[in-house]
Amino acid sequence: MRCRACAAAFPADAPWTRARGVEWFRCPVCGHVRVERGAVPDAQTAEARYRLHRNDPADSGYRRFLASFVDRAVAPFAPPPARVLDFGSGPEPALALILRERGYRAEAWDPIFAPERRALAGRFALIAVHEVLEHVPYPYRLLSALARKLEVGGSIALRTRFPPERREDFGRWWYKEDPTHVGFFGPRAFAALAERLGARLSLVEEPDLAVLGFPAAPDAGRLP
Ligand SMILES: [Zn+2]
Repeated sequence: MRCRACAAAFPADAPWTRARGVEWFRCPVCGHVRVERGAVPDAQTAEARYRLHRNDPADSGYRRFLASFVDRAVAPFAPPPARVLDFGSGPEPALALILRERGYRAEAWDPIFAPERRALAGRFALIAVHEVLEHVPYPYRLLSALARKLEVGGSIALRTRFPPERREDFGRWWYKEDPTHVGFFGPRAFAALAERLGARLSLVEEPDLAVLGFPAAPDAGRLP
């Protein structure tokens, strides 16, 4: 099997651990953890679960959680009035609302809750992938598609909880309990994804933030 973050090959017959009733595989090179293939929920099951997600912009705790993301992972890399996409916005476009309050031109897109294609038109200075990557079975494929939607020198800002290194800690880890969470990434997995995408890791911050910065000129620094 190949790691879906760094592409390293590792044995498919040796799960790292069993937890939540399913097997988990951990890449020995970058530490990316993912669930066994059969445990990725189908679209209907996932949608039913997403409808239970609370991301209410009127909830002050959730607003603070989003504001910390904007302060740490958005504003330093794309100040307003940059054009920003909230990819995978969920049932409420809470992040886009906060971005607009701060002077951004923000769009929200979600395959279930906000599927209007015009939100994806044009290019973005920054794409926010906020609590989304843990739901995505093929992260490299998604990030490379999003990278093509960036302005030159743009960034992808991600929030997803970094997994514990140790098996015992993973066994107790709350974040894996959501059945729609199928893969987890830490600093080394983000570094590997950045390298494969031709980007740099502009920020990596415990417990859950990473920003991939794409080159200001497509061929900058590359010798012929
Ligand atoms: Zn890996």
